[in-house]
Amino acid sequence: MESQLDPADALYSQEIPAGEPWVYEVLRGQTMRIVDLRGNQAADTLFYNAHDYADRYSAQDTIREQGNIYLTTGTRLISTRGTHLLTITADTCGRHDTLGGACANESNMVRYAIDKRHMHACRSSFLKGLMDWGRGMEKRDITSNINFFMNVPVTPEGKLSFEDGISEPGKYVEMRAETDVLVAISNCPQLNNPCNAYDPTPVQVLIWKAAGN
Ligand SMILES: [Zn+2]
Repeated sequence: MESQLDPADALYSQEIPAGEPWVYEVLRGQTMRIVDLRGNQAADTLFYNAHDYADRYSAQDTIREQGNIYLTTGTRLISTRGTHLLTITADTCGRHDTLGGACANESNMVRYAIDKRHMHACRSSFLKGLMDWGRGMEKRDITSNINFFMNVPVTPEGKLSFEDGISEPGKYVEMRAETDVLVAISNCPQLNNPCNAYDPTPVQVLIWKAAGN
């Protein structure tokens, strides 16, 4: 589903370079768009209630509430305490993953090779972004995440597979904050699986003010 919002009206616009983190507060009623500028780029994302960081995005609660494992227009993003954090209001990609988790130095070693350990990974980017944010968050605050634009189909037998992306240049996903949220994005630096087409690229974030404000 396409959005009616015009980028020229956005109150905030920022390009996140390939492999970099981005942490920002989105206020209740505001709409945030993430644009896959060059296509096939995974944007690993964490959400927290801006007034209580212990209340954060829960993949399990979100999946159970909607009865579906894929995220798209209409999905309500639910927290560990049942808070309705955001609603996906537009989506031209059509499918986003919340089962695959964020890549880590440890999983790079286990999945690919011991010598991949040093390679830059999302969990390190999240840690850097949250520590730079400077409100006391640390490694234990990095819990379940969404991989926007990432294609992780589940087979009828329940098997997970990391597939080539279905996103293309300019595809976007948009969500309205239902409460004040802290958003942390790791623009995934992964080079060992097809989630970034082996070539990490920038994404763009746009934010519009709340309707009626
Ligand atoms: Zn990653």
